[in-house]
Amino acid sequence: MEIKFERFHLQSDLRSPLQGFESISVPTEVRIDPLTKRRSRIITWGLPTKGKFDFSQMAVEPKGCFFCPDNVLSKTPQFPKEIIPEGRILIGKAAGFPNLSPVGTYGSVVVLCHEHFLHLNQLTPEIYEEGLSVSIEIIRRTMSFDPDTRYWQISQNFLLPGGSTILHPHLQVIGDPIPTNEMEWLLDASSSYHQRNKALYWNDLIHIEKGLGKRYITSLGRVHWFVSFAPIGFNEVCGSVEGHRSVTTLGREEIASLAKGIVSTLKYYDGKDLNSFNFSIYSISDEASYQLFIRIISRTPIQPYYLNDWTSFEVLQSELTSNIVPEELCREIRPYFP
Ligand SMILES: [Zn+2]
Repeated sequence: MEIKFERFHLQSDLRSPLQGFESISVPTEVRIDPLTKRRSRIITWGLPTKGKFDFSQMAVEPKGCFFCPDNVLSKTPQFPKEIIPEGRILIGKAAGFPNLSPVGTYGSVVVLCHEHFLHLNQLTPEIYEEGLSVSIEIIRRTMSFDPDTRYWQISQNFLLPGGSTILHPHLQVIGDPIPTNEMEWLLDASSSYHQRNKALYWNDLIHIEKGLGKRYITSLGRVHWFVSFAPIGFNEVCGSVEGHRSVTTLGREEIASLAKGIVSTLKYYDGKDLNSFNFSIYSISDEASYQLFIRIISRTPIQPYYLNDWTSFEVLQSELTSNIVPEELCREIRPYFP
């Protein structure tokens, strides 16, 4: 095994007006991701919470929301007949249909619930079980029509800071014959790890993290939940699904475990007065050295004088930041998991 947890300590000295212009030192830690070798910065100072945002005005159900129950079956697009003859995939309260504004070959939207707006602590495991089941059915049907589409993401952008213009909770399901940058980095790195070590990176990582106990949260069935050593976003929580590369092979139990982990993470975010987030499930078929993976990050909460968390550092320097020490996040989030 060659997993290394490399870190560099940086220190910035200044004379602080908050402490009578006494000299102070502010530490920053740069960590190298053991798989991709990508650097991220752990910031040790955090802005205090401004409390919970009042959504009472924003969350009023607008008449024209296409995702609300009155419109979802009459005003949303339908799949081509040769892929999904019935037009849409419906399971429980979740509804999946093509995205009117796609960004790739196969772009779908999965509306998660009838409610136009839900707070993070109102999203339940059942909601995600149904939403993920619809997403997976879309992927299975599309792949049996077009098997070359091996690269899929199931993602969520929640609220405006997360990049969603529509409040109504929904997922994005996107499939292409070529990988995204992130998928390619994960694949290339796990493939060369596999060649050098004759082992699956994800199994080795989970074995080490379990032993260390500082970033491993828990296992729910075959899904291992942990905090990344070198996060690429704020409050980043990851899950790796043992024995699977693509979502198409998941059974009910694994889908339920993914749903529980997502909801546990969102409850933790809610407890910290956060209200916006992103997640992505990276699903890739036919890659022996890869294991199915989900990454969840919080975004700066929606609030007056909103502060974007992607600055020139992330956008132009490709140096990603985290505002919490990963080991501290793991300690704090454990009680939220079942
Ligand atoms: Zn709605």
